[in-house]
Amino acid sequence: MLDVEDDANAALPIKAQRWTGEAAWAVYRQPFNDLLFEAQTIHRRHFDPNRVQLSRLLNIKTGGCPEDCGYCSQSSHHATGLAASKLMDVDTIVAEARKAKEGGATRYCMGAAWRSPKARDMDGIVEIISAVKEQGLETCMTLGMLDREQADRLADSGLDYYNHNIDTSERFYPNVVSTRTYADRLETLDNVRQSGMKVCCGGILGLGETESDRVDMLVTLANLSTPPESVTINKLIPISGTPLAQSAPVDALDFVRIVALARIMMPTSYVRLSAGRTAMSDEMQALCFFAGANSIFIGDTLLTAGNPEDAADRKLFRRLGLEAL
Ligand code: SAM
Ligand code: SF4
Repeated sequence: MLDVEDDANAALPIKAQRWTGEAAWAVYRQPFNDLLFEAQTIHRRHFDPNRVQLSRLLNIKTGGCPEDCGYCSQSSHHATGLAASKLMDVDTIVAEARKAKEGGATRYCMGAAWRSPKARDMDGIVEIISAVKEQGLETCMTLGMLDREQADRLADSGLDYYNHNIDTSERFYPNVVSTRTYADRLETLDNVRQSGMKVCCGGILGLGETESDRVDMLVTLANLSTPPESVTINKLIPISGTPLAQSAPVDALDFVRIVALARIMMPTSYVRLSAGRTAMSDEMQALCFFAGANSIFIGDTLLTAGNPEDAADRKLFRRLGLEAL
């Protein structure tokens, strides 16, 4: 039941369809079987339902971040006991990238605990991008906010994707972060889009938001000038010492509903099951794949948190008959 704002939209290519909160909520609240049937039907129109894209995420600069994201172990505002480190040297990054490729990853994502890269960081970042590209991997970076000049510089250096998550709805956002605004995040996404790089963007479930906040987050993403090519759906990993560590865990079936809604609203995007998979049963992950998730992070560490071991993911893929893209 794909509903759009008006018939004029209906003829538009999928990417340009605009969503209203009401239309998205109506899709989300369908009986679970109907919602998943619609999501899987749309998923099969655009993707092989038994193939999953594998990415690997490496923290290339850890901790000491001046932002106060309430979920984050790397914020200098929270006493999480995490030791800060400088930007990793390019040889170490390339060695890790080679391991990721041997492990089946096609995309290599590099994150830095920055508000935004400084001018003095940019030459080193550009050198890292070309060194990783030489390994035959798609490259992605997530370095905080970017102005247009920084985005153009990264695009010119051949960076394929840039991740910058909006994390939740605009309404709930002030409960999560105070040191950068929702508009700041949307501006970075626009700078990335204008530069010609692909966009990876999404958020976290389980921050204390309501179900309608989660739906509204997806409406924001789907209504961007071009929806993100990758949509990351994280399940909060509670980090002790952070303000959001005690948030009530997201209901597993509500989580699957959001994956399905992301698939229906952004039919040609990769939907990535991101942080929090160690707290998901195989059955929950299987439902997420059926709902249209078709990308995961591999590797036993995700930034500073845990992630399923490669052996566990291989066993899950065997049980489900899934293959790496
Ligand atoms: N510092 C960069 C920034 O904020 O843009 C890099 C962000 S890096 C990709 C961290 C992202 O992973 C956050 O945007 C958030 O969506 C997710 N994340 C961080 N800590 C998390 C946690 N404890 N649980 C779930 N997701 C988390
Ligand atoms: Fe800093 Fe990024 Fe963590 Fe926010 S999510 S505190 S910007 S490292």
